Amino acid sequence: MDEPFDFDLLVIGAGSGGVRAARMAAQKGLKVAVAEDRELGGTCVNVGCVPKKLFVYASQFNELFEASAGFGWTSSEPPQFCWSTLRDNKNKEIKRLNKIYADLLEQSGATLLEGRAVVADSHRVVIRGTTYSSRYILVAVGGWPYIPEFPGSEHAVSSNEMFFLDALPKTAVVVGGGYIAVEFAGILNGLGVNTHLVYRGAHLLKSFDRDMSEKVHEGMCKKGIQVSLETEIGSIERLGKQFVASLSTGEKLSADVVLYATGRRANTKDLGLNNTSVKLRSNGSIEVDEHFQTADPSIYALGDVIDRVQLTPVAIQEAMVLVDHLFGEGKQEVDYEGIPTAVFSQPELACVGLSEDQARERFAHVNIFISDFKPMLHSLGGGSERITMKLVVDSATDHVVGCHMVGEHAAEIIQGMAIAIKAGVTKQQMDATIGIHPSAAEEFVTMRTQAR
Ligand code: NDP
Repeated sequence: MDEPFDFDLLVIGAGSGGVRAARMAAQKGLKVAVAEDRELGGTCVNVGCVPKKLFVYASQFNELFEASAGFGWTSSEPPQFCWSTLRDNKNKEIKRLNKIYADLLEQSGATLLEGRAVVADSHRVVIRGTTYSSRYILVAVGGWPYIPEFPGSEHAVSSNEMFFLDALPKTAVVVGGGYIAVEFAGILNGLGVNTHLVYRGAHLLKSFDRDMSEKVHEGMCKKGIQVSLETEIGSIERLGKQFVASLSTGEKLSADVVLYATGRRANTKDLGLNNTSVKLRSNGSIEVDEHFQTADPSIYALGDVIDRVQLTPVAIQEAMVLVDHLFGEGKQEVDYEGIPTAVFSQPELACVGLSEDQARERFAHVNIFISDFKPMLHSLGGGSERITMKLVVDSATDHVVGCHMVGEHAAEIIQGMAIAIKAGVTKQQMDATIGIHPSAAEEFVTMRTQAR
């Protein structure tokens, strides 16, 4: 097609990855546009990480109120929870963040094109009837909750709807054993909802270290969540305001809401990619090479839509590497090894590096260090929650290759540990590090006895 193009880079999707790519490119003086048909910020800001974490905070107060009694606090009235206050305050906070995203884009010099974008060919995109041309198109449209089809599946809701419910349910069935299922089960249970988690597999959070995912399972049950493993839902029936789920065990569960957290799929439907040579996998995600280039040379894709690692910080990193590749020195790379991650389940789980099983496959001899203890808060607070920490060490090199934690502040602590592990820390160097006392984190530098 004849130059000049309207833009150097036209990004479809103003989520974490798309906005970062647009801003970085625009700051280099390039002509950049971002197309978005919803609120700015994508899944993370609107129906993901941010509102989820706010809900997690909300759901933890009840236990804190209870623990406060042991520290001398009393109250004449039991605390009351108001769902609409939480939901509406959360909505206000998200609106504030949407505005920050708009300001950041504007300040960078990128143009926001509001409306649904459809790719017309390798260099052109149509938005609300207007065609825009661009040297490069970046598809950063993210993902969308996936609910399998079965009799009554239309009665199930996804995480998207959970953030805007009119009323807090009294009873809930949550389906799935991954991040979203365990996180929402914890939120609902903490807010006082009678919660039943149903998962088809034998172990929740199956991609995590087995010791750790079992601690999460145990902790969730102790807090009152009912968990049915190796169980599927055959159908859901509506009976008045209730939904009745028929389980493969023959049991029937009645609930005010049935949440399906059964994965997220790339948002590529009706995007016009069939007008290009972009290749999709059977699950709708886009195939890209190491530079995020699709099979159509002028079209790139990153973030959840390429289905590598569905995490916000990964999409952001991919965006920075792509902009460096297209418009910079081309020296940066995304290192997919050692990505730290946290599940904001209750108890919280965070880790970096290899699980014990993965390490045993990779190394001849592996040393395991485990520490399990009661957090200080509960010495007077009376709760039964515990903290478990685990280090996986390659005995040949003494390198710490995996670091895992279940318990309060796990995500905060593991972020620091991730730096050490990325830098190639050895167990000996950890042992030589002075702890911060009294803290839970100091256990990571005081583990001397090998568990296995
Ligand atoms: P996950 O892939 O983590 O989990 C999906 C779960 O649904 C699995 O347990 C899976 O079972 C189950 N499942 C899939 N299909 C079916 C089916 N047809 N019937 C019954 N169960 C089914 O997806 P999530 O939806 O929880 O989250 C999506 C992604 O978003 C995560 O993978 C993560 O990358 C990201 N995320 C990150 C968060 C964080 O960083 N804290 C928080 C939330 C999401 P099986 O294991 O048997 O396949």
